[in-house]
Amino acid sequence: MNRILIAEDEPRIASFLEKGLRAHGFTTAIATNAVEAMDMVFSDGFDLLLLDLGLPLKDGLTVLEELRGQGADLPIIILTARDNINDKVAGLEGGADDYVTKPFRFEELLARIRLRLRTHQTNSVRPETVLKIGRIVLNLRTRKVRVGQIEIDLPAREFTLLEVFMRHPGQVMTREQLLDRVWGYDYDPGSNIVDVYVGYLRKKLGNETIETVRSVGYRLRT
Ligand code: CA
Repeated sequence: MNRILIAEDEPRIASFLEKGLRAHGFTTAIATNAVEAMDMVFSDGFDLLLLDLGLPLKDGLTVLEELRGQGADLPIIILTARDNINDKVAGLEGGADDYVTKPFRFEELLARIRLRLRTHQTNSVRPETVLKIGRIVLNLRTRKVRVGQIEIDLPAREFTLLEVFMRHPGQVMTREQLLDRVWGYDYDPGSNIVDVYVGYLRKKLGNETIETVRSVGYRLRT
C-alpha cells in the first residue's frame, strides 16, 4: 500500500485530499507546516509527497530544495494556488516531479499521483545514489552524510567504511572484510585501524549506531 504525505496547512483542502486518497486505498498523513513536513519525510518513509507551496514556517520551494539536498528521493507533486508560471518552473527545477494548480479536480491529481508512483518504481532499478538506514542518509553522488537533519562531513575512508556498513545493514562485518573493502589488501592484518575508524564514526554518528560483536567484528544497527 502506498503512503502519501499531505503537506497542506488549509484544513479543508487537507481533509478533502485525505478522504479522497483513503477512498482509493492510499494511506495518508498530514503535515500542517514546513518543518513538520520535512521531519515526517525523513522519519516516516512515505512513497510520495503532496507539497503545498504556501506552507507556514518555510516557503515551499525552500522545503523542496532542502529535501532534495538532503537526499529525499520520493516523488513530490507541488500543489500551488499561485497560478504563476515562475513558481511552476522553479518547482520543477527545484526537484518536484509534477505540479497541480488549485483549484484542481481530484481525479486529475489522482492520475498524476499514480503516474508518479509508477514511474518512480520503474526508475528505482537504476543504480542507487542514496543509501538510507534509519536516520542515516548517505548520498553517493554528493558524498554527503546526514543524520536526521544534521549534515556531517566525513573524510574519504570514514565515508567508505560507512558505505560498506550501509550496504550490509544488520549484518556482522568482520575486521578482515572491512579492511579488505575499505583499505584494500595493502594493510597489516594485525592493525587496529578498523577499530580506530569505527570509533571515529561512532563519535560522529552516535555510539549506538555501530554495535560491537565480540571477537567477530561490527554491525550497523538498523
Ligand atoms: Ca497553504
